[in-house]
Amino acid sequence: HPGFDIRAVRRDFPILNERVHGRPLIWFDNAATTQKPNAVIERLAEFYRHENSNIHRAAHELAARATEAYEDARRTVARFLGASSVDEIVFVRGTTEAINLVAKAWGPRHVGQGDEIVVSLLEHHANIVPWQQLAAQVDARLRVIPVDSSGQIRLDEYRKLLNDRTKLVAISQVSNALGTITPVPEIIELAHRVGARVLVDGAQSVAHLAVDVQALDADFFVFSGHKIFAPTGIGALYGKPEVLEAMEPWQGGGNMIADVTFERTLYQRPPARFEAGTPNIADAVGLAEALRYVERLGLANIARYEHDLLQYGTQLLQAVPGLHLIGTAREKASVLAFVLDGYSPAEVGEELNREGIAVRAGHHCAQPIVRHFGHEATVRPSLALYNTVDELDSLSRVLHRLAKGRRTLVTPGPERVQEF
Ligand code: PMP
Repeated sequence: HPGFDIRAVRRDFPILNERVHGRPLIWFDNAATTQKPNAVIERLAEFYRHENSNIHRAAHELAARATEAYEDARRTVARFLGASSVDEIVFVRGTTEAINLVAKAWGPRHVGQGDEIVVSLLEHHANIVPWQQLAAQVDARLRVIPVDSSGQIRLDEYRKLLNDRTKLVAISQVSNALGTITPVPEIIELAHRVGARVLVDGAQSVAHLAVDVQALDADFFVFSGHKIFAPTGIGALYGKPEVLEAMEPWQGGGNMIADVTFERTLYQRPPARFEAGTPNIADAVGLAEALRYVERLGLANIARYEHDLLQYGTQLLQAVPGLHLIGTAREKASVLAFVLDGYSPAEVGEELNREGIAVRAGHHCAQPIVRHFGHEATVRPSLALYNTVDELDSLSRVLHRLAKGRRTLVTPGPERVQEF
């Protein structure tokens, strides 16, 4: 691939040298979490060796270093997302915390009795439950955009759901269960026509597609660092400045206040207003390093490489007898979810694990969409920039072997291979 040296990329990720059950590790669980490049691992060590301090408050050199590193991380996230100012970036624990922050700090002020919140059938539980809780709290209604048989959002049905009671549309840019890339630009434009705000869940998109929150005109954009080669426990919420300004704090404590007396407290402006307490300083610094790593490779290069990888993997899986891909939208990223006749997803996952291949088998915290396709669980290999065609070949070999050894209810033919 021109512009993308896969061997060099793989050398950047030391965990890819692990062996599991005597086999080289094949990490196909990237939708759950991604592995970390040396640059990130070393940046964390460097922070703790040379810069560690609490931030913003002290009069000493290390506080200045840590504060500078933390605020530089905010600048990096702002640049990465195409935000217009660092003040639009709030550090959070991850996507789940970002969505809960918006539901608590924006929700009750802007969504009232009889109002409507629109989500899609594709959503992760993190983009369902906080809205359900908000709806129950303010007596609003949750409405759901259906999907077509390929797992793509039905824009015609979405149009019909929108009305002047719609206050918020919360939508994933990429589905974690199916890999569908949703038509977020159209979704946002249509929502804005009825005066609704839009929250984009970027948990599964940021590592695979270039994002520009201003070009999208997103009101909120949220993601988790650990899904883009950064440490766990850190993520970001982007909000339009006028939207963040009009939000109440959601947690109280140090760092988020301008002045406190027992009679009243004055709050800081965003983003500090939403960062009560000592933040996750080191992991924010690690996140910035991960984003710089991705920027160096270039998301356009990454997307091209992964697109071809996903197509190759799709063809391989389609050739496995009795394998059914779940999610066949034309626009997809990373995910190859499937079920295999004769085996539970857990059995397939265990067999792959014995071969050193890590996948997720389950409902992927997205039960409504998995059930919509008639399953309680699927097997979900999910790709990232360090995966290869050879790894997909290994996956396919194991699946073909399982398919051959399938326990069938019909009378076995003469050439039936008895492996299980
Ligand atoms: N939304 C989507 C689409 C996800 O894939 C995930 C993680 N699986 C989340 C939200 C939640 O992210 P986190 O657990 O990092 O908060």
